[in-house]
Amino acid sequence: MHKIYLRFYEELNDFLPEEKRRKRFTHQFIDRTSVKDLIESIGVPHTEVDLILVNCKSVNFRYLINDGDDISVYPVFESFDISDVQHLRAKPLRTPKFVADVHLGKLSKYLRMIGIDVLYKNDFDDEEIVELSLKEGRAILTKDKGILKRNEVTRGYWIRSTKVEEQVKEILKRFDLQKEIKEFSRCIECNELLKPIKKEMITNRLPPKVADTQYEFYECQSCKKIYWKGTHYQRMLTFIRRLGIWV
Ligand SMILES: [Zn+2]
Repeated sequence: MHKIYLRFYEELNDFLPEEKRRKRFTHQFIDRTSVKDLIESIGVPHTEVDLILVNCKSVNFRYLINDGDDISVYPVFESFDISDVQHLRAKPLRTPKFVADVHLGKLSKYLRMIGIDVLYKNDFDDEEIVELSLKEGRAILTKDKGILKRNEVTRGYWIRSTKVEEQVKEILKRFDLQKEIKEFSRCIECNELLKPIKKEMITNRLPPKVADTQYEFYECQSCKKIYWKGTHYQRMLTFIRRLGIWV
């Protein structure tokens, strides 16, 4: 039986049982495995990890663990300069895009409402989600750690909160999306971009009260749904204010 020492930092502790959180602990093993398999066997999906130090040196996921190794595992850093060591994740996406799992319909709508690109269907299966992530460079949003442990998945985020507003906050923080927020830019129903449209082009499609009181309209280029700054707009502004962000 061999022995190694492990410590996980910051939010990676969310995946650990209480007795292993925020402290160095020992782990015993018989066969040498990759550090990726080791970390995931302890419960942390590799997509959450950005830096692994073994005996103070950075290693990649394929590193084979040795008896006596002292391993530190770090999450994605937001403001800490570690440019001289080996980051494990793919480079950040210039304009982050997402694909959400079937349980995150409500979250997807909230993210689209503030302009974030999120693919979602209530019948997506895991294969489709992984394929869309790889083909279109989309980070997977999920509450299922299993999908994030798959070798081919490089971008993903495990949602902690069960409350949608907290979930939006988590994602804005983790992917540094504050600057991306843009209301009235994306269709809540189908994720397509909206375009301003002249009122006279659509008057016959508006409820009379809306036609009488509103002057600014947007149309979804795909499903043709029309948006205007009515009561749902006020609700959206209240929501954005509650996020602590102003656009
Ligand atoms: Zn639409």
